[in-house]
Amino acid sequence: MPKKAPARDGIATIAAHAGRDPFAHAGAVNPPIFHASTILYERMEDYDRRRDRFFDGVGYGLYNTPSTIALACAVAEIENAEHCVVVSSGTAAIATVLSAFVGQGAHVLVPDNVYGATRTFCDDVLARFGVTATSYDPEIGAGISAMLRDETSLVFLESPGSLTFEVQDVPAIARAARANGAVSVIDGTWASPVFMRALDLGVDVALQSGTKYLSGHSDAMFGTLSTRDEGLFRRLKETAGRFGNRLGGEDCYLALRGLRTLPVRMQAHHAAGLELARRVAAHRAVRRVLHPGIEGCAGHELWKRDFSGASGLFGAVLRTDDRARVATALESSRLFKMGSSWGGFESLIVPVYPGLQRKATRWDEEGFVVRIHAGLETIEDLWSDLDAVLSRTIG
Ligand SMILES: *Cc1c(COP(=O)(O)O)cnc(C)c1O
Repeated sequence: MPKKAPARDGIATIAAHAGRDPFAHAGAVNPPIFHASTILYERMEDYDRRRDRFFDGVGYGLYNTPSTIALACAVAEIENAEHCVVVSSGTAAIATVLSAFVGQGAHVLVPDNVYGATRTFCDDVLARFGVTATSYDPEIGAGISAMLRDETSLVFLESPGSLTFEVQDVPAIARAARANGAVSVIDGTWASPVFMRALDLGVDVALQSGTKYLSGHSDAMFGTLSTRDEGLFRRLKETAGRFGNRLGGEDCYLALRGLRTLPVRMQAHHAAGLELARRVAAHRAVRRVLHPGIEGCAGHELWKRDFSGASGLFGAVLRTDDRARVATALESSRLFKMGSSWGGFESLIVPVYPGLQRKATRWDEEGFVVRIHAGLETIEDLWSDLDAVLSRTIG
């Protein structure tokens, strides 16, 4: 098992070294890829006790291989957690955590601006198993207390929301959840653990769609659930196993390879995102930007308090409502391509429809909304392209 770094190490040091143990395998810097289903035992007694190893050892390929252990150790350190469960996608992490802490008749709270698959899992799967999900205003803060019921077993957070970028009062909500005996879980994919240490803010479980920044190269998918609590970890690990969820060795390798450069990439996304957002905000085709790092945007004060930086993902409300015109403009872009996901090295732009799934709040603002991912390309190239795209939305 790789050794844990001393607590004083900075995030870039942790990212470079966590989960590695070169002299356990011929001195090679990176851990080798393990392909394994069957794990052999020389002694029958060890075989009989293999289940004891399912939580943090190697017992059967479904639960762990040295590859998943290396990745889980690395992510746990980056999240400042004690434990991590790695699963096959961010969506699988959402399904795992939402299944782990509910039973029939339970109630969960979900922010109104939450990632679509989270909402769908509640409305489709949880509803069929007798679990009620209520949407709450992401800006509710300590007011969440009034929505907690005796049977509320889980409070889900996502901050900022990945479509409209409202920032939540994470410590206040986590505190209220704990006082009610509910588990708090945050989808912190936007900031990555580099810019928001969710467990330090009092949340019980930190969720990442590793597909985004952790992997960082648009070529691998995984999800992570990190916690300091042994009991919560065991429940999460068991639940992932019950669903047969696992991550293959090749994807663990790509994930670890991405993680090594996470802090330096995040600094570049931070700078590019803020620079582009400022220029976009001043563009004549744009009503306003949605970026918590920009003064005057929703959540800016909370962002300054709880985050140490911003990612490259932000929104813009355009002046036009003309769908055809926006389509022509987006299709003309040279560098900002349309496609799901984000967090890779490349820039993206997509249309978003923030009003569609809201239940507790309304989005009736005029103007077409686009979501922009600032990648790692040269900033002036990005701006000359984006400037032209935005101009085309108005004429
Ligand atoms: C993409 C995304 C997910 C889902 O992750 P996948 O790996 O694509 O399944 C979850 N939450 C947020 C905020 C995301 O952007």
